[in-house]
Amino acid sequence: MAILKNLKTFKGGIHPAEQKALTEENAFEIMPTPQQIIVPLSQHLGKPAKPLVKKGSEVKTGDILAEQDGFISCPIHSSASGKVLKISTDSNVSGFPKDAIIIQTNDMNESLFLPPLDFDKVTSEEIIERVKVAGIVGQGGAAFPTYVKLTPPKDKQVEVVILNGCECEPYLTRDYRYMVERTEDVVNGLRLIMKALGIKKGAIGIENNKPEAIKKLNDAVKNFPEITIEALKTKYPQGAEKMLIKAVTGKEVAPGKLPFDAGAAIQNIGTAIAIYDAVVKGEPQLTAALTVSGKGIKNPKNLIVKIGTTISDIIEYCGGITEDAVKIVVGGPMMGVAQYDFSAPVMKATSGILVLTSDEVNSHEQTACLRCGMCVDVCPLNLTPTRLARLTQLEKLEEAEELGITVCMECGTCTYTCPASIPLVQWIRLGKQSVQTLQRARQSA
Ligand code: SF4
Ligand code: SF4
Repeated sequence: MAILKNLKTFKGGIHPAEQKALTEENAFEIMPTPQQIIVPLSQHLGKPAKPLVKKGSEVKTGDILAEQDGFISCPIHSSASGKVLKISTDSNVSGFPKDAIIIQTNDMNESLFLPPLDFDKVTSEEIIERVKVAGIVGQGGAAFPTYVKLTPPKDKQVEVVILNGCECEPYLTRDYRYMVERTEDVVNGLRLIMKALGIKKGAIGIENNKPEAIKKLNDAVKNFPEITIEALKTKYPQGAEKMLIKAVTGKEVAPGKLPFDAGAAIQNIGTAIAIYDAVVKGEPQLTAALTVSGKGIKNPKNLIVKIGTTISDIIEYCGGITEDAVKIVVGGPMMGVAQYDFSAPVMKATSGILVLTSDEVNSHEQTACLRCGMCVDVCPLNLTPTRLARLTQLEKLEEAEELGITVCMECGTCTYTCPASIPLVQWIRLGKQSVQTLQRARQSA
């Protein structure tokens, strides 16, 4: 296939074991509504939503539980019908407890959706407003409110919308299933995003380890010459925004700049589906599509679950964990968060739950730095991870700032590579947060 020749990519990166075979052939299953859901008020970047319900309120599926509070915020809808038990501070997959609305669900299945809009006649303004009221957030991990990304500053010349179909994290196959099961909806979601932004060119970047998705999408865009399917080299982190833009357009996003500055708007495959469902079916963002995988789960699956479903309910639905399971991670193994409390609920941008056994996790003892330079060679952003981690340990924050610690995208490539098992990204994340606190203090001084 011509599209698989001359594959585009970026400098650096790694090739971790893909581990996709556990679930890539498993079609999405819809998990039944659990008896109780825990719906966090903060499932997005920005201010938490403001509750509109109280203890005892009866709600329907699609009811607004909490309203958007400020420009960078999102409304939260009920993913099931039932009764509000309480609003309390509960476990969260981020590792930090957050305010959440707890709902005892019922079997009434009463729903309250938005009126469907005509795909061919809908205007740019109507798409953006629909995305806003449907509470859609980016599905790529950061959970940035999507309507904000559809309204770039007027001085930015955006030329192309790129859908991120790389799914470069090992194990995860959720985006792949969307691309093969809902191929036309992915393309139509992209067309809606292009219309919202008033952009004529679209592209879908996919790693070449997904030939079936590449083939199906190429067939689906035959009548849309403005959309191209870009087969990319399979390499982590190919799906990071800057790497994707470099691979697809050849343009660099300068440190501290955004994709818009390089003329590109990036959206995830799951976000395109959520936009399509909100516009054409009137569905607010009520469910999360996720991969449940790892050798430690008895029945690996790709699932559609109601937002607020707990990790423990999902694990039980997948048959439970094996005796040799040692670690549960929400997200992918490279950037995901290890979990200590399985009562934490799934949120809008949750992409996976991994149950890993000891042979799937790095259990080597940490040693002193070998000065091998491997972390520097693989960093896609040309940073010096070993130095940044060391400067954080020494609390030399200004020096770390000068070396660009805030630019780090926390991809974990350096940590994965390090033969001394030094938790580089964890140190860098800590240093980055401290430098950002320092920068805010300087600004308010
Ligand atoms: S985590 Fe940061 S420093 Fe490490 S490889 Fe990724 S971008 Fe580079
Ligand atoms: S990869 Fe690890 S051992 Fe090698 S230079 Fe970097 S921190 Fe040191």
